[in-house]
Amino acid sequence: MSNNRSRSGELYARAKKVIPGGVNSPVRAFKSVDGDPVFIEKASGPWLWDVDGNRYLDFIGSWGPMILGHSASLPVEGVREAALGGTSFGAPCELEVRLAEELVSLIPCIDQVRMVSSGTEATMSAIRLARAWSEKKVIIKCDGCYHGHSDSLLVKAGSGVATYGIAGSPGVCDELARLTVSIPYNDSGALKKVISELGANQVAAFIIEPVPGNMGLVLPDEGYLEEIRTICSENGIVLIFDEVMSGFRVALGGAIERFGVEPDLVTYGKVIGGGLPVGAFAGKKEIMSRLAPEGNVYQAGTLSGNPLAMAAGLATLLELKAKPPYQQLEEITAALSSGLKEIADKKGIEFSSSFLGSMFGIFFTSQEVRNFADAQGASQEKFKKFFWDMFEKGYYFAPSAFEAGFVGTEHNLELVSQTLEAAEEVM
Ligand code: PLP
Repeated sequence: MSNNRSRSGELYARAKKVIPGGVNSPVRAFKSVDGDPVFIEKASGPWLWDVDGNRYLDFIGSWGPMILGHSASLPVEGVREAALGGTSFGAPCELEVRLAEELVSLIPCIDQVRMVSSGTEATMSAIRLARAWSEKKVIIKCDGCYHGHSDSLLVKAGSGVATYGIAGSPGVCDELARLTVSIPYNDSGALKKVISELGANQVAAFIIEPVPGNMGLVLPDEGYLEEIRTICSENGIVLIFDEVMSGFRVALGGAIERFGVEPDLVTYGKVIGGGLPVGAFAGKKEIMSRLAPEGNVYQAGTLSGNPLAMAAGLATLLELKAKPPYQQLEEITAALSSGLKEIADKKGIEFSSSFLGSMFGIFFTSQEVRNFADAQGASQEKFKKFFWDMFEKGYYFAPSAFEAGFVGTEHNLELVSQTLEAAEEVM
């Protein structure tokens, strides 16, 4: 790799004049690793090329969607074919019915799906529906879980909010933020306590990433998801699993399948759009039918169910269903995660790692990371050094200590060995 990044530098300078901070989503700016971003020209399989011709092995996968690798033939063909028939109708089309049917057939606890254009819209709409359904107002979430940037959910959030150390956000009214209570992940006692303090008659919903990927990758303690399911059922609280990231990533049926726990509502995004802007929220007919036009809970979108996005998502899901890659993906993340841990141990570096399906987490700390406070306790300085040294060698990990890593079907054990060789030099 030449490490010449002059063209990226020029584009960044131009971008900063016309786009706030030069990027359209904060984590892309590389601020938390004290550097400047590279601009990507093209991507194929597990590889990214920047505008200066440097090639990187991509462990971000566009923050989750690219489970089949970049430029995968089926989604690309699906989009091409759909585009030739028109890029947007603003009217129902067959592709959105087919994608919804696939989702309903793959996730046994849902009857109906509403398509939207981002994960943010999916979670924002799900909590509106939960509030309307339960006729209550308070939302409980977990510290370090990120559910997109809608006002109610920007409270003690992970991902970019954690990356930039923002507790909430100016512009989110206190009156609204007060209706969101954040508790530690993996702590069912904290959930019970908040419910008893507020009264179950106040709490509309508990929204959670069943497998959080926005504080690095954190796994649920054994029995935790079952416990929160029971607590929510006993208290008439809508349990929302935000599977925007874990959906079709930790198993074909996401965390719902992997842990056998069924939420009342579930949100999707990322993989189900195959790299195009898609989100969805879903649940049993009795709740979902409260949505307009069947019911009176309003929710809408000019580009919802867009034919290109539906085609990319459908092609991706059909491929995952036809050839489920989850065992192979988990072998890869296991090899990467345990390989990094072995190297760190050998070098005497405090390190802990996690993996599930095609997701992994790396933390420079000696303790197991079970929640956001643990993740915050890991060394960000060491992470930064690791990030840049690996980046210089052509390995593109997420430029933030508070993000999960991803592999796709185009990664393999040979590429993992090469990554570990590089990590051995770096560490
Ligand atoms: N929910 C989770 C779990 C996410 O990881 C994200 C994005 O990373 C979102 C919601 C928001 O999705 P989007 O960025 O598509 O709005």
